Amino acid sequence: MAAALLNSTFASLPMFNSSAASFSTVFEEVSQYNVQLNIAERLWAAWYLWMQNDTLATGIMSFIMHEVIYFGRSLPWIIIDAIPYFNRFKLQNQKVPTWKEQWECAALVLLSHFTVELPQIWLFHPVATYFGMEYGVPFPPLWKMAMHIAIFFVMEDTWHYWFHRILHYGPLYRSIHKLHHTYSAPFGLAAEYASPIEVMLLGIGIVGSPILWVSLTGELHLLTMYAWIVLRLFQAIDAHSGYDFPWSLRHFLPFWAGADHHDLHHERFIGNYASSFRWWDFCLDTEAGEEASKKRREKNVAKLRAKKAQ
Ligand SMILES: [Zn+2]
Ligand SMILES: [Zn+2]
Repeated sequence: MAAALLNSTFASLPMFNSSAASFSTVFEEVSQYNVQLNIAERLWAAWYLWMQNDTLATGIMSFIMHEVIYFGRSLPWIIIDAIPYFNRFKLQNQKVPTWKEQWECAALVLLSHFTVELPQIWLFHPVATYFGMEYGVPFPPLWKMAMHIAIFFVMEDTWHYWFHRILHYGPLYRSIHKLHHTYSAPFGLAAEYASPIEVMLLGIGIVGSPILWVSLTGELHLLTMYAWIVLRLFQAIDAHSGYDFPWSLRHFLPFWAGADHHDLHHERFIGNYASSFRWWDFCLDTEAGEEASKKRREKNVAKLRAKKAQ
């Protein structure tokens, strides 16, 4: 229960009937007795104390956060699509999504958020805390959060590469993954436009990586999980945006995939299977696009020549 969440910092908190108290009363109580906590930590602690049900408190917070970030991050791309000036940065600039396409996409994504993702979000709290995830205050130091998030990016990218590649196997593609490829020129909102089976399968990489990590190391805080989800959502939406700017991250981090990498996957239907990084596709020779095909052709020709010369 709520008391279990709180570290010793809350031992001094006087008993009060928080089910009857308003959120602001609980917040004031928390602030009064925990001056060492910053405002975000006080709000966080007061939320759990006020809710009196930790699974529900995490579930509501997670679901709202996911919706706000998903649609909030997609909105700038909807606006950019409507401004002709930005067309010069669009990768497939002859294919601008129509309002109808965007509306239909948003409706299906919203439906899948309520039917498929909501139960998963609800299950997350009991499963993660079972494996040792913390969600009390104070929050973990920034350096630790950054380190964990970097590890999750690498783990998730690996999962995504292999399972996305498997989803391109004929029968699986036709029955599951084809839906995500409805748009050969993707846009931000299309990031989670996919079959429920795909959402679950690829979602395991996103939620399962931190769970595997905490089960092995015993170290994970819910706030780190939130920061990871937010950054991974930004990655997915930006990768589907269809825009590559001179200031896009991949120009500064050459191994970062970005929209340039995933847009080609949607255009060609083959190659570029990883989510965040380029190394898997590079090392396993599954890169998409003109340049990669040319290199592959040259390699094959060289092999044939070498055979003939023998
Ligand atoms: Zn695909
Ligand atoms: Zn995609």
